[in-house]
Amino acid sequence: MRISVKFPHGDRQRIEAQDVDHTTGVPALGEFILALHGDPASDPCPGCGQTLAEAVRTSLFGCGLCYTTLYPAYVEAASKLQAAQNSGLAGSE
Ligand SMILES: [Zn+2]
Repeated sequence: MRISVKFPHGDRQRIEAQDVDHTTGVPALGEFILALHGDPASDPCPGCGQTLAEAVRTSLFGCGLCYTTLYPAYVEAASKLQAAQNSGLAGSE
C-alpha cells in the first residue's frame, strides 16, 4: 500500500507504507497505518457503520455493538501505537 507523506518543508512524496518508519523516523508508524487501512478484518460496525479508523481517530464508538465488533481491534491498534511511541522515546535518548 502506497501512502502520501507531506514533509514540513512542503514536499509531498508517495511511499510504500512499510518505508514510512524509515522516512519519518517514527517506529512502527507504517504498521499502524496498515492496521487502520489495510486490515480486511476491520469491517465497519454492522450496527452503526463506525469504522476502526474512525474509532481510533476519535476514541468514540457509535453504538453498543461497536464494543463487540470494533473494540478488540481498537485495543490492538492503540497498544501498537503506544508501544511504538514508547520505543521511539526510549530510542531517542
Ligand atoms: Zn456500532
